Amino acid sequence: MFESLSGKFATAFSALRNRGRIAPGDIDEMAAEIRQALLDGDVSLAVAEHFVSTVSARAHEALPTLRQSTNPSQAIFEIVNEELISILGGQARRVRFSKNPPTIIMLAGLQGSGKTTLAGKLSKYFASQGNTPLLVAADLQRPNAVTQLQVVGEQAGVPVFAPEPGNGVGDPVAVAKAGVEFARSKLHNLVIVDTAGRLGVDEALMKEASNIRAAISPDEVIFVVDAMIGQDAVRTAQAFLNGVGFDAVALTKLDGDARGGAALSIAHVTQRPIMFASTGEKLADFDLFYPDRMASRILGMGDIASLAEQAKAAFDTGSAEKFEKKFAEGEDFTLEDFLEQMQAMKKMGSMSKLLGMLPGANSGAMKKQLESFDESEMVRTQAIIQSMTPSERTNPKILNGSRRARIALGSGRSVKEVNTLVDRFSAAQKAMKQLRNGGIPAGLPAGLSGGIPGMPPMPRGGGFKHPLQQGNQKNQKKKSRSGNPAKRAAEEGR
Ligand code: GDP
Ligand code: MG
Repeated sequence: MFESLSGKFATAFSALRNRGRIAPGDIDEMAAEIRQALLDGDVSLAVAEHFVSTVSARAHEALPTLRQSTNPSQAIFEIVNEELISILGGQARRVRFSKNPPTIIMLAGLQGSGKTTLAGKLSKYFASQGNTPLLVAADLQRPNAVTQLQVVGEQAGVPVFAPEPGNGVGDPVAVAKAGVEFARSKLHNLVIVDTAGRLGVDEALMKEASNIRAAISPDEVIFVVDAMIGQDAVRTAQAFLNGVGFDAVALTKLDGDARGGAALSIAHVTQRPIMFASTGEKLADFDLFYPDRMASRILGMGDIASLAEQAKAAFDTGSAEKFEKKFAEGEDFTLEDFLEQMQAMKKMGSMSKLLGMLPGANSGAMKKQLESFDESEMVRTQAIIQSMTPSERTNPKILNGSRRARIALGSGRSVKEVNTLVDRFSAAQKAMKQLRNGGIPAGLPAGLSGGIPGMPPMPRGGGFKHPLQQGNQKNQKKKSRSGNPAKRAAEEGR
């Protein structure tokens, strides 16, 4: 998502970066480019105008002080970043839990916007946070809507209140009310009410949704909107705001080739925060929405915060501590440890999605590599390690020719592939020893896993360079090229 927007922002900045001194005309030029980028990205005209005029007013105002600054383009970049966060809603907001449970969440939006899918995702997410959600099937209109909710409820492991068959039968207001009562009596602390949409905005739809709202007084009405509908998203949001009213927004289908306009327009136009982002059809394809992280992605800085959170969740504390201890005590990092890490990484989700959170992921070269990233390479690497005996895994030095041939046969890979893995692993192991002894090894891709086939490069703690700082980076050119294609792209693409 946001690839083209990201690319255009990068172009607008690169012109600025190449200026030794920044003149007022340069700011105007950048502003015009950003304006065009936003409009091309389906951002509504009002929002694009507001954004560009705020950014350029602030940049012009800062210009006299910027002239003394050593890195004026960086300062302007900061202004753009801040304003982007503000357009996206500023602070992240979370669901307000009622002091008097159950907390009631009502989902509203057009048919096909992703309400039922989101209901499942929300219920799973909130259950994992220690809540006891109940799903309520109040879409009695759309064919099979009730069954669909029952299916996602089962996947999420969350009970579904569905007293009516739907398909046109039953009163949605009565079901919503009964659902809340049922939740109260069964001590569920959270109720998520799925409602009916229509193909377009119409009177009947608005009336039904506002009747449900009036009957159950939800703590949060969440407007669910498909980010792929572009400019229409803003019109639909406005219609729902007037017709039903809502407290927050959930953006769905951000995994599609959405140009991002909806995300950038809706929070500002409706003055309601975006709370959730849906990025796929599966229950796991779901994120809390953070304006600052989204801005960071759009500006090509990646989303290190989310990546770190996912890593923390995937590597249970036990194994993280074990690795730390091993490292501190000077023990060797073995192939066994590597295998364990790789399995933990798999829990974090698809590698392309993870790599997409790295800075520069939207840049041309990195994107190409991402698209061609071979998830199966990891499976192959794993197969090779799994064909080794425990002693071979802890001490790869004993891997002579006949052992390598046996491993190749056992894993169904070639001896050459086994050799490559062992060589790269040994190099990484050596580099780690250097690292432990206080030196930064030349050319070592950051993180334990760098340079090993099938493993992505992990960013060194916070020390990544923004594309804007490219100029400085040229001087500290890496001594060697990384063996990892994605890492190499990251090195070359910036
Ligand atoms: P509803 O009519 O608002 O309840 O929408 P549904 O939840 O039934 O979703 C409509 C279609 O969109 C279904 O085929 C979903 O699988 C799909 N869908 C929902 N959310 C997403 C998403 O974030 N990404 C993608 N790619 N598809 C989604
Ligand atoms: Mg539905």
